[in-house]
Amino acid sequence: MVKVVIIGGSDAGIAAAMRAREVLPSCEVVVVVADKYPNFSICGLPYFLSGEVPDWRDLAHRTVADIEAAGVRLMLGHTARFIDTKRKTVSVSIKSGKTLDVEYDRLVLATGALPILPSIPGMDLDGVFPLRFMDDSFALQSFLTKRAPTSAAIIGGGYIGLEMAESLTRRGVAVTVIERGRTVLKTLSSGLGDIVQEELMRHGVKVVNNVTVSSMERSGEQLRVNATGYSVKVDLALVAVGVMPNVALAESAGLVMGTGGAIAVNRFMETSELGVYAAGDCAETWHRLLQTATYMPLGSTAHKQGRAAGENAVGGKREFIGTIGTQVVKVFDLAVARTGIRGAAARIAGLDPLTIDSEVWDHKAYYPGAHSLRIRVTGDCNSGILLGAQIVGHHDGEVAKRIDIFATAIHHGMSVDGLSNLDLSYTPPFGSPWDAVQIASQAWVQKHDESRIRRYVRTA
Ligand SMILES: Cc1cc2nc3c(=O)[nH]c(=O)nc-3n(C[C@H](O)[C@H](O)[C@H](O)COP(=O)(O)OP(=O)(O)OC[C@H]3O[C@@H](n4cnc5c(N)ncnc54)[C@H](O)[C@@H]3O)c2cc1C
Repeated sequence: MVKVVIIGGSDAGIAAAMRAREVLPSCEVVVVVADKYPNFSICGLPYFLSGEVPDWRDLAHRTVADIEAAGVRLMLGHTARFIDTKRKTVSVSIKSGKTLDVEYDRLVLATGALPILPSIPGMDLDGVFPLRFMDDSFALQSFLTKRAPTSAAIIGGGYIGLEMAESLTRRGVAVTVIERGRTVLKTLSSGLGDIVQEELMRHGVKVVNNVTVSSMERSGEQLRVNATGYSVKVDLALVAVGVMPNVALAESAGLVMGTGGAIAVNRFMETSELGVYAAGDCAETWHRLLQTATYMPLGSTAHKQGRAAGENAVGGKREFIGTIGTQVVKVFDLAVARTGIRGAAARIAGLDPLTIDSEVWDHKAYYPGAHSLRIRVTGDCNSGILLGAQIVGHHDGEVAKRIDIFATAIHHGMSVDGLSNLDLSYTPPFGSPWDAVQIASQAWVQKHDESRIRRYVRTA
């Protein structure tokens, strides 16, 4: 009987476990999990902290009973300390403080990511929080409940920072987002980031740009957050400046590291060590458009990589097809989405990108509740291939559905013009005879044709 040991019990680890059992029901699967919350949706933490999801238990993708019913053995509250790839064992610390050697035939590393905690004075002060693990959310929830803070600084204007800006605002906390870039959400073009920033300010969130926090200190009952030329006094500070792959265990086992310091893997999620796989936020990710490895830690990717790793660990040959960086985030009334690559990345890849913005109604404007969507389409001038899209609009405007149309088109290498051929649904309350994505694509095609004609006239 094949024994698969998986280290890490979140998105990637449990996806691997479930798939291994599905493909080879006779295999033995053991998942070693450092905490007590296997398969919890940490993506939902901002909604637990806002009170929209009152009970944290509801964040479980699956319960322990569901997982065990699938024949997966969970070792909860056990930390893997060392991997011996020669003897094929994982040393696991058990509750008594002793260690136990767990043998494996195949090993899947799904140790995830760790929050980046800047090395600045004051990070250890009471009232300063990261947000990555369930326990982080319990600590923050307890602070919010017991201390009733009225002001908060969020350091970092990425998607977690912005979700938490909304979450804390909902709890009556006055939020200041401190972002070192020119606008929030650096995964978007800056013009669109400005729209998101306006939305934050419209809901009372203060946004401070071009500022890098250099220290935090106690100031009476409060914290003072300092940067060059800027300082603010708040009751709590949330640090959300990004994550890094959690690879100490893999490094100590001698595995080769790759892009972004993540575990190097091939398309089958195999690491440099035979019989050892890696998936999720601890591993690098294949970028389908750029045809290169990248580091893009997302739950959607972790599930897919985990599934491939689990299947391959029991003898399958499933390729992780790659990511194109599709993402959506809710910021108050807005949904903000992106997929594919932007102009700058396309140029670096040797392409000739053209990016066109359109303002399009989400459905027929005569039907009540129509919202205008800002859609930015990037295509390659030489081939006409769709490279990327970004959408910002009201969350009732089916932004997520629309970015997924673009994502599907990119996945299948469609041209921008080809989007007009798609047979998309239409009824006035939901769309138009030409869907918003088609109208935006047609605007791109028109500009592309005009620039081609201009080039032709110039060279004729
Ligand atoms: C607030 C928040 C919101 C997010 N929102 C989104 C979103 O909307 N969409 C999206 O796609 N992604 C989102 N993400 C990212 C997403 O949650 C991660 O990409 C995903 O959780 C990665 O899953 P993973 O299994 O690779 O790693 P992790 O979730 O980091 O899990 C790692 C696992 O490994 C265990 N572990 C680590 N070291 C050891 C060890 N030595 N021994 C035993 N166990 C160990 C941990 O206990 C844990 O079970 C969000 C993340 C956060 C924090």
